Amino acid sequence: MLGSPYWNPKTETLSRAELDSLRLAKLRVLCRHAMSSAHYRRAFAQAGFEPDQLRGLGDLRRIPLLTRAEWMHGQEVNPPFGDLPVTTPEAAIRVHTTSGTSGSTPLRALDTRQDWAWVAEMWAYGLWGAGVRAHDTAYIAFGYGSFIGFWGLHDAAQRIGALVVPGGAQTTGSRLRQILDFGATVVASTPTYALRLAEEAVALGIDLPASPVRRLILSGEPAGSIPETRALIERAWGAAVHDTAGMTEVGTITTFECAHHPGGMHIIEDQVIEEVLDPLTLEPVPYGVVGERVVTSFGRAGIPLLRYRTADLVERVPHDVCGCGRGFDVYRGGILGRADDMKLIRGTNVYPRAVEQIVRQFPDITEFQVRFERTGIRDEVVVRVESPTGVPADLGRRLSEAHEGLKFRVEQAEPDTLPRFELKARRFVDTRTAPLGATR
Ligand SMILES: [Zn+2]
Repeated sequence: MLGSPYWNPKTETLSRAELDSLRLAKLRVLCRHAMSSAHYRRAFAQAGFEPDQLRGLGDLRRIPLLTRAEWMHGQEVNPPFGDLPVTTPEAAIRVHTTSGTSGSTPLRALDTRQDWAWVAEMWAYGLWGAGVRAHDTAYIAFGYGSFIGFWGLHDAAQRIGALVVPGGAQTTGSRLRQILDFGATVVASTPTYALRLAEEAVALGIDLPASPVRRLILSGEPAGSIPETRALIERAWGAAVHDTAGMTEVGTITTFECAHHPGGMHIIEDQVIEEVLDPLTLEPVPYGVVGERVVTSFGRAGIPLLRYRTADLVERVPHDVCGCGRGFDVYRGGILGRADDMKLIRGTNVYPRAVEQIVRQFPDITEFQVRFERTGIRDEVVVRVESPTGVPADLGRRLSEAHEGLKFRVEQAEPDTLPRFELKARRFVDTRTAPLGATR
């Protein structure tokens, strides 16, 4: 392994046929395991599905889908952990919750020792694939709360043998100080916080590109794969960006960006099955078509995860778009957004990703916020920017051109008045009281 570009050379280079037979065997074991969960016993019975019916991977579609709403409902009826887990709090070793950024009750996950070993293993595929090795010093800019965030990356970096510096709860300035003092070569954070650290470095007169940091491992927001945002981060740090995507429900990342930078992320296909479905018909979409990502995880021991609807939008392309030799398919452009994050303004669709892509073309903008407001009967989009050189003259026009001529009101915000974020940013604020019909 030491000289290999792959963390798990045996599985990362399997052919599609070999991968599929491995995954069918794992799926059979997982379905039998899931029968210990009250939720799955009920869901399987309702769908008329029995684990012994699995003849090929095509039979995956006989397994009922799992939604976040079902998970949350189970938690309400049977608190605190619901009826999905097959483990008990006595047998488990960790609890994690979602970040609860939407203001809703957080989802709670219960992990066993086996889960946690797997979480670290999954992150190790990603870190190793990005080029992180034992000689690296990895700085983790993360508050270490009940949100799962970079906990798994922490364990994986130790597994690889890197020197880990847990950033913990401290100010952005003191985190920067530690990055320099310990000579970090790798920094892990959200894309938003990577930019925030860079902004603070400029204010403190720190020359980040001159520091030993060579790689940034990003997670937690789709922005890690937005080319304009990546370019800003790479320039500010003088370091390469590697995106990853995970979720509390899965417990870890399931996709990562290898050292070849394929314009997206590989799916760790020996450890998960990821389907891409049309969110309305729930039929699979072909390669190159955007759809909803649905995850089946072979490593979730305490909470079996079968066909979980993530609401993430992705476009899957074959593995050979990347020259690294992995047999794992790629999500081109990373996570493209959420199935439910589109806004409808006067008949025009506005996607947060598309707006960020344009705002990030202006490097002087240090922070921004997009507000969807209603004045009388008229809906408006207001983009507020912090920019020491003033509002870029071109910003409103470019936003409008990308949105069928929809007018965006661009305003200058006073320095340091817009919210800053350490984890997932909440830059899109909808202040309209009543919804305007269907907004999906
Ligand atoms: Zn690759």
